[in-house]
Amino acid sequence: LNERVPLAEPNDEIGQLTRSINELLERVEASLIREKQFTSDASHELRTPLSVLRGTLEVLIRKPRTQEEYVEKIKSAFASIDRMSATIDQLLALAREEKGKFSVREELELITFLEEVTDQSAKEQGREVRFQCEASTPIFVRANEQSLQMILSNLIQNAVKYSQPDAEVLVKTGVAEGTPYIEVCDAGSGIAARHLDKIFDPFFREKEVVDRAVPGTGLGLAIVRKLAQESGIRVSVSSEQGKGSTFRLELPDS
Ligand code: ADP
Repeated sequence: LNERVPLAEPNDEIGQLTRSINELLERVEASLIREKQFTSDASHELRTPLSVLRGTLEVLIRKPRTQEEYVEKIKSAFASIDRMSATIDQLLALAREEKGKFSVREELELITFLEEVTDQSAKEQGREVRFQCEASTPIFVRANEQSLQMILSNLIQNAVKYSQPDAEVLVKTGVAEGTPYIEVCDAGSGIAARHLDKIFDPFFREKEVVDRAVPGTGLGLAIVRKLAQESGIRVSVSSEQGKGSTFRLELPDS
């Protein structure tokens, strides 16, 4: 693939065809490199908790322990197993071919739907999630309910995870210039400007987040991006470090 077709006559039809072939080769190459990187990152993400688990069990078997030590080590073993399970679940979500189930779009009324989703997320996360509607009439969109729910649940989970327990998490909806939108806003740690185009890549996590040992797999936003692409939803993010982040979804209307 490192080979390129040599450009003989740059301006005639053969020249154009040659350029197209070279562009195609470049894209195939880039995609193979991405795939290789993905496999190596995925293996690393699974190997790390597996090594920790092995270490924990080795320590346990080496000499007799007190009841408390056993409990502590076994708890740590469970944490490693949970981390691996979360990574595997998210890898499966990312690999699943949703053509079919998730691509079916139905008419959905956003306000009622979001009230339910915010209520449910608040219960799951044990945090208040405020809902604010900036429209005075119902908002109808064509969407896949399950897919949109998964997108929102990932965004709300992050908003909760990357902000202080007493900071507000807000879900907003409305229509701007004819386009229905949903925003998930937090007043949390924010994201460095140089990372804004990287956070949707599989396994990308900001160093500060890893250093602070915030739990996560780095796959949530990759899933959001994939589901959004399949549903014709545009995702954008604005964020300021130390102030918070807003993730905005623009939906195709009905
Ligand atoms: P995870 O949360 O499991 O690390 P994600 O793919 O959901 O993985 O997010 C990737 C990274 O983007 C996070 O590790 C974090 O650095 C950053 N991030 C995502 N959402 C937020 C947010 N609401 N506030 C601050 N940082 C965020």
